[in-house]
Amino acid sequence: MTPTSEATSALRTEGLTKHYGEVRALVDLDLDVRPGEVFGFLGPNGAGKTTMIRTVMDEIRATAGTATVLGMDSHRDSVEIRRHIGYLPSDLALYPNLTGRDTLTYFANLRGGVDRDYVRSLAERLDADLDKKVGDLSSGNRQKVGIIQALMSRPELVLMDEPSAGLDPLVQRELQTMMRELANEGRTVFLSSHTLSEVQRVADRVGIIRSGRLIALESVAGLRTKATRRVELDLDGVADPAVLLAVPGTADVTVDGHRVALSYSGRMDTLLAAVTAHHQLLDLSTQEADLEEIFLRFYRGADEARVLS
Ligand code: ATP
Repeated sequence: MTPTSEATSALRTEGLTKHYGEVRALVDLDLDVRPGEVFGFLGPNGAGKTTMIRTVMDEIRATAGTATVLGMDSHRDSVEIRRHIGYLPSDLALYPNLTGRDTLTYFANLRGGVDRDYVRSLAERLDADLDKKVGDLSSGNRQKVGIIQALMSRPELVLMDEPSAGLDPLVQRELQTMMRELANEGRTVFLSSHTLSEVQRVADRVGIIRSGRLIALESVAGLRTKATRRVELDLDGVADPAVLLAVPGTADVTVDGHRVALSYSGRMDTLLAAVTAHHQLLDLSTQEADLEEIFLRFYRGADEARVLS
């Protein structure tokens, strides 16, 4: 079996479930990652992210459900799948006595077809030290070797489990730039993370997992419209608060002469249409949407999270 070029999903799970004894690490997960997107898989510690990735990689067997990777069955075609994807596990085992360079050469020989110049450029961009023995590297510098081995074959799909772990902010930024470049080339990035800011910066869509269940699946742009922003309007007259409060998503309206301040979650054109039906809008200022607030809502309770479903 080879990857089906007509595959409409880079990665798809249906009813994927994994129990460890009494622990329901993954519950009935349906996910469809599209070719060419950066998909952020976001969740707090213990949410089930690593379990999902390890199940898809056939490192552990699902209790129920199926996964397909580039159109291939994750269990039956697991060997072939590995030829086509890159993978950074959460606990990559490396030989401590090999240097970073020898480690990458070893992986490249196993895999074949790796362009050495590309490896060199990845190492430069991540500021990776390939001369030291891996056992002597700090965890962040070891992580860089893992990231390079995941990317060096220019895979169609790369799965990365918490790739930013241990990386300093500059290197994290560079990695984010690299992920966007991969997506621009039509490759797919599956990024597991517990950091909203990272996912917000780099992902096209985000799936939020909590206690093994997918509790939200949204485009990052969509999440932004659902987050609450503070909006200030300067009008040509005194506004009627009732008019503003009639717009779904508005709250905390204060009117001070011609100036209005309010909280708003929703599409800005909806709010502006309602305002300009009654007034001329002289000026507008709005804070950038704070996804943190919406994200914490998800993390705290599944009931509240239903607002987005
Ligand atoms: P983190 O961000 O901390 O890495 P995660 O989202 O990757 O978390 P998982 O490692 O998938 O979460 O863990 C999901 C749940 O499954 C947790 O309750 C964890 O304790 C449990 N778990 C994971 N591996 C095992 C195992 N081998 N045996 C028993 N329980 C396990």
